[in-house]
Amino acid sequence: MIPVRDDLRALDGYHSAQVDVDVRLNTNESPFGPPDGFRDALAAELSRVDWNRYPDRAANALRADIADLHGCDPAQVFVANGSNEVLQTVLLAYAGPGRTVATFEPTYQMHAQIARVTGATVYEGERGVDFTLDPTEVERVLAVAAPHVVFLTSPNNPTGLVEPRERVEQLLDSAPGLVVVDEAYAQFADWTALDMVDEARPLVVTRTFSKTWSMAGARLGYLVGPTWLVAELDKVVLPYHLDVVKQLAGRIALRFTAAMNDRVEILVSERDRISAALRALPIDVFDSGANFVLFRPTAIAGRAVWQQLVDRSILVRDCSSWPRLDDCLRVTVGTPDENDRFLSAIDTIVSPS
Ligand code: PMP
Repeated sequence: MIPVRDDLRALDGYHSAQVDVDVRLNTNESPFGPPDGFRDALAAELSRVDWNRYPDRAANALRADIADLHGCDPAQVFVANGSNEVLQTVLLAYAGPGRTVATFEPTYQMHAQIARVTGATVYEGERGVDFTLDPTEVERVLAVAAPHVVFLTSPNNPTGLVEPRERVEQLLDSAPGLVVVDEAYAQFADWTALDMVDEARPLVVTRTFSKTWSMAGARLGYLVGPTWLVAELDKVVLPYHLDVVKQLAGRIALRFTAAMNDRVEILVSERDRISAALRALPIDVFDSGANFVLFRPTAIAGRAVWQQLVDRSILVRDCSSWPRLDDCLRVTVGTPDENDRFLSAIDTIVSPS
């Protein structure tokens, strides 16, 4: 064995238990496959692909279609292999050795993880016990850490909390560097920071095709940001990083916006049904604007509830040993049938017999 970089030696990888179960409610994907017509349209386009040629390096057509969706300039759109690669490219360009990245914990673990892999120092700000973010904590973190990059996830993962618009405004007013708003779940919430993107502001908003667009299997994500920043990202990312199949799949998915919006409506209503049902049990439930719900059983340990759900072939995310999330579990909104199965199982597990 040869030694890895000193700063990587102590780093843990990203873990998400994959257990073979009937009902998988642990990774926040869409429970629905793509709409009717998507597969056939993709197959037809694939039959015309020039397989011997590299793909369009800048993914111009896909960028133009995403820009159409959001009413922005294609030069403000950067696309990559999942929003994780978008985040990685941002951090390769704007973090790295000698630079600082700030997060407000608990939040999506990959922000700190990728920042550390680039060699940056991570400063972890704290949320309150209800997981809201106090403006004075934001000021403190910005003053102490002077971060080159600061993250806000809205809706937050794993808490589900939607940040108020004022929090993004505060960061834009006070942060000395780049503000990244991770909106992987924004379609399930009631507002977006997309309209705050402007050439004069160091703000990017990241999005993914993994949730609403039923395309977690294809790995496609993007950001909307100032053109000068997107130009820097284009320098950092590998040439031809986005294969031809994914570029086509993304463009075709965007033809089904209305069908996708209908699914979002179903998931939002199922989410609210799950939250209400859990609230009737001995369980603390956190408000969610996403396609998942974080909850904390109060009568039985979270880990024991997780295991008893697995015993009934239902997998949720076990956050119970994560820092600041004692006893918490996170359930992804599934199909109505899957949600019924989950709710009936958890009722049996936590209700006094
Ligand atoms: N951001 C957040 C907040 C997430 O929860 C996830 C997925 N778990 C991602 C980004 C990454 O999504 P993807 O790489 O599939 O686009």
